[in-house]
Amino acid sequence: MQGAILYGPKDVRFEDREVPRIVEAKDAVIRISAACVCGSDLWPYRGVEPITQPTPMGHEYCGIVEEVGSDVRLVKPGQFVIGSFFASDNTCQNCRAGYQSSCQHREFIGSAQAPMLRVPMADGTLVATREVPPDALIPSLLATSDVLGTGWFAADAANVKRGQTVVVIGDGAVGLLAALSAREMGAERIIAMSRHAPRQRLAREFGATDIVSARGDEGVARIMDLTRGIGADAVLECVGTQESMMQAIRSTRKGGYVSYVGVPHGVQLNGEELFFAHVHLHGGPAPVRRYLPKLIDLVLSGKINPGKVFDLTLPMNQVAEGYRAMDERRAIKALLRP
Ligand SMILES: [Zn+2]
Repeated sequence: MQGAILYGPKDVRFEDREVPRIVEAKDAVIRISAACVCGSDLWPYRGVEPITQPTPMGHEYCGIVEEVGSDVRLVKPGQFVIGSFFASDNTCQNCRAGYQSSCQHREFIGSAQAPMLRVPMADGTLVATREVPPDALIPSLLATSDVLGTGWFAADAANVKRGQTVVVIGDGAVGLLAALSAREMGAERIIAMSRHAPRQRLAREFGATDIVSARGDEGVARIMDLTRGIGADAVLECVGTQESMMQAIRSTRKGGYVSYVGVPHGVQLNGEELFFAHVHLHGGPAPVRRYLPKLIDLVLSGKINPGKVFDLTLPMNQVAEGYRAMDERRAIKALLRP
């Protein structure tokens, strides 16, 4: 079998790898229907997060169960399943609290850009659909595995409620789907921060009512103009830089909510500014598993079409081009088919 392996900055290869097999009794092995390249894959790809050895890549996946271990009860061969980037038992206290991405037994799934994948704790990690879905729904179902689940968490963690004003910082796939999530939760006004025309169009399609292209302090000033000097009820930070985090906190009204789902790189908060900001902060690695059943239903019922974030589809052996296109911002998100 061949799969994506990162060797160093800008060097992804599609190479021979061991075929995944059942290792633990709770494992499943799935045949990937589609995988994709994540914005967070670009951090190691760009060398911002250095790697020490050739590293298999990919943590977004859906597919057909090929084989299960002797201790798997719920998941069956032949089922179409979706899982998240952290395998979770879905039974420990953190999981029961809805934070499966902090499962006490969590395992990162990091080799999904390949035709086959081993999934630990299959019963806890995977959600099966009733039937094998039509091919046309695969991109939207794949989106639930991470980008939509993460965008949904951004809106949920920021306590988005009907009638509110919401700001989304970041026009990557997660930010765009955070706008969609805020709309589903009933936000009245959704201000998307974006400088790129094709992404602005998609943000509007997903529910954004206003677009602000300024960023940093200027972006904050625009939000204040749009909210009569008060700030937004909820600000969804979907980037992970110092500038975007500060922009989020400073754009939020007193008593409002900031969520942060972009993996932070060099973000530092000043205690005094935080103290006087008077905002709620909640974020982290999205507990996508909590939302999967609901998000899968929304896709299968045709209510949402998050798969539109995939503006490039490639055969999996051209995975390197997927990384390049996203790195150069020629593509929002690249879908890979085996
Ligand atoms: Zn757990």
